[in-house]
Amino acid sequence: MDYFLRKRGKLYCESIYLGELADKYGTPLYVYSLKTLVRHFKVASRAFGKIRHSIFYSVKANSNLTLLGVIAELGGGCDIVSLGEYLTARKAGVKRIIFSGVGKKRQEIEMVLKNGLDFFGVESENELNVIEEVAIRLNKPAPISLRINPDIDPGTHKYIATGLKKEKFGIPIGQAVDIYKEISNRKYLKAVGISMHLGSQIESVSPFVEGLLKLKQIFCKLSEQNIFLKHIDLGGGWAVPFAKGQHLPEPADYVREMVPYLKGLEAEVIVEPGRSLIGNAGVLVTKITYLKKGYRKIYAIVDAGMNDFIRSALYGKEHRIEPTILKKGKTLNVDVVGPVCESSDTFAKNVELTPIKEGDLLCLFTAGAYGFSMSSNYNSRLKTAEVLVAGDNDFLIRERETYKDLWRKQKLIKTRDIL
Ligand code: PLP
Repeated sequence: MDYFLRKRGKLYCESIYLGELADKYGTPLYVYSLKTLVRHFKVASRAFGKIRHSIFYSVKANSNLTLLGVIAELGGGCDIVSLGEYLTARKAGVKRIIFSGVGKKRQEIEMVLKNGLDFFGVESENELNVIEEVAIRLNKPAPISLRINPDIDPGTHKYIATGLKKEKFGIPIGQAVDIYKEISNRKYLKAVGISMHLGSQIESVSPFVEGLLKLKQIFCKLSEQNIFLKHIDLGGGWAVPFAKGQHLPEPADYVREMVPYLKGLEAEVIVEPGRSLIGNAGVLVTKITYLKKGYRKIYAIVDAGMNDFIRSALYGKEHRIEPTILKKGKTLNVDVVGPVCESSDTFAKNVELTPIKEGDLLCLFTAGAYGFSMSSNYNSRLKTAEVLVAGDNDFLIRERETYKDLWRKQKLIKTRDIL
């Protein structure tokens, strides 16, 4: 469900034709639909019904200030994994914060604790000790939640599965109760929650239910021992469809199936979705630079590269690609590739497109999550602009980089002066 729709063959974001935005802002260009993002957030939130809950949007999916501001206005918090994400979320007006991640640095812990957060999602005993040391120094007790590794197979790509025994994430489930007991004796650590995050793009709800039941068991065991937690955090990882017609659970479906197991729980339920909120609220519009005949196939060489959108190269994930204008005539079978000097700079192979020519625009769907946020300057290419559409209004929410930006932090040392 999104608001990228065709009218008389032309692809619109809400009420604006994508070609109009490409003319105005250039390509490649990320375009987001405000209505889609707001819809996903509200639908997921409503599905909780009477269950006390909060949505903490996962900033890593897309950290644009304006989009984070939208989350803040909707009443959402943020799940962050670095001081950079923390400061960005705060700048956007986000009030509630969870600090996740396996490698939080002392300086990051200190800054975040000093400036306030809901809790640290703690990943190891050593990290717990560092947090305690900082809390003592600041004379400020640190709110924490243990991220449990429940050893559940989420059935997703191996690079984005995080809840299995063999992964670096979380604390082994068998150690949890003892660590919570130990925390209860430490004045500067305050256990407020229990967390999990099983992975990303998890296409079935059952791993979440399985994980939730495991967390509930610990939660109840702790209550029996007079350790009362305020939050149960089920992480993110809800999937989005990548192909046309692919049917996957929607954000609300994940929630609805978990709700029966959440009833009666004396805790605020937290979820940390990223991809499912912003993924199909964004597209990448790119222009065909060349149509090239190779030995065996035709390549549509576009002006977006793997530096702009790395998901296809990194995970082999082919996103739906279509021309912004559907023309009548014989379809063309092409590989859609970027200009970067790597063979993996390929967005899709053997796609059947309606007639296209050089200069035409293609739209790569479901690019809102882990798109711009994973982009880079590889090949000294400039990072793209981002535009937000709200009805028939468009807002430039990130300017395209200029060549000066490439050198802004560099120093040109004349080696003849130092040799
Ligand atoms: N929470 C944590 C701790 C994560 O590591 C991630 C992503 O890796 C998320 C939430 C968001 O996941 P997704 O974007 O798949 O919802």
